[in-house]
Amino acid sequence: MREARLIGSLRYRSLRYTKNHPLRIPRVSLLLEFLDAMKLIADEEKVEGREATLEELLLFHEREYIETLIEADRCQCVPKGAREKFNIGNYENPVSPAMFRGSSLATGSSVQAVELFLEGYTAFNPAGGMHHAFKNRANGFCFINDPVIAIEVLRKKGFKRILYIDLDAHHCDGVQEAYYDTDEVFVLSLHQSPEYAFPFKRGFIEERGEGEGKGYNLNVPLPKGVNDTEFTYTLEKTLIYLKDVFQPQVYVLQLGTDPLLEDPLSKFQLSNVGFLEAFRIVKDAFGVGVYLGGGGYHPIALARCWTLIWCEISQREAPDEITPAGEKVLRSVDWEEFDDEVDRTYMFKELKDKPRTGEIRAEIKNLLQKVKATLYS
Ligand SMILES: [Zn+2]
Repeated sequence: MREARLIGSLRYRSLRYTKNHPLRIPRVSLLLEFLDAMKLIADEEKVEGREATLEELLLFHEREYIETLIEADRCQCVPKGAREKFNIGNYENPVSPAMFRGSSLATGSSVQAVELFLEGYTAFNPAGGMHHAFKNRANGFCFINDPVIAIEVLRKKGFKRILYIDLDAHHCDGVQEAYYDTDEVFVLSLHQSPEYAFPFKRGFIEERGEGEGKGYNLNVPLPKGVNDTEFTYTLEKTLIYLKDVFQPQVYVLQLGTDPLLEDPLSKFQLSNVGFLEAFRIVKDAFGVGVYLGGGGYHPIALARCWTLIWCEISQREAPDEITPAGEKVLRSVDWEEFDDEVDRTYMFKELKDKPRTGEIRAEIKNLLQKVKATLYS
């Protein structure tokens, strides 16, 4: 049996985005504090994250871009021309301690997740999953693409058939672009259709890869309002079809929690038990993989959801109730966006949401037919 390891750090507390950014919220540190308070993690299961080395960053990113991030970090300012050239120093990708030091720590932690996986552990790096970053440009709150660097580490170890699965509510444009022309990495993403959601320009089903990579990229763009039933049905069927055309030696899974109903940045309606079910579907299909975090902009929803994922990874029974100590940690979060209109008391009392099941709409069934035809074409 594989033992579980959670790679994290309380250093993220001081490596935050700037004041009005959606990622200013506590995430990994909150998860760690919550797991401790709930007594759901043992000391030996915690691994302190480390920063990525320059060599690791250059496995994907261009040197000039990384050097500019380092310079921006040093002065906490926008170096001349960097806004236009590298898309940093704007509202979307601001200069802050998160920009380089936070991203580098998250990226080193993704490399650790790969190493621990190869040593026989099941490893989860909740700070990882920054899937939007391009090789020479920040994008969608992401500066360093740690999933790509994790995959590059696997390729250096000799893996030739790697599957990347992305459950984040947003399309993984940075990862897709990195592997668009290779058949060694299959990129699969389920997400909000770019017709109405970021990144708008990428994520359509017609994007299938090019050259050697043709057929090794699959986008499943979903309509607004997707419920548990629709999401898990789509994922399960898609993986059945995918297995016919690609048999991975290893997979990397991005577990952004923004498909949850409570998330302020997405239009999906998943419950955390629906999300957990999606995780189990991947695990049932391909066994244990390398697990990374991702988006997620409601701190409490995120902490509860990744707690369920962690319990699954570490083969613990997830409790139904949040203990007073756990509730205290969640209530300590100072976040001005708590919606007073909706009663969210359950989020502080219960760990699991009520399932948000429902009908599978005709458009989802049609989409799956399209997915099947696309994959087998
Ligand atoms: Zn997202």
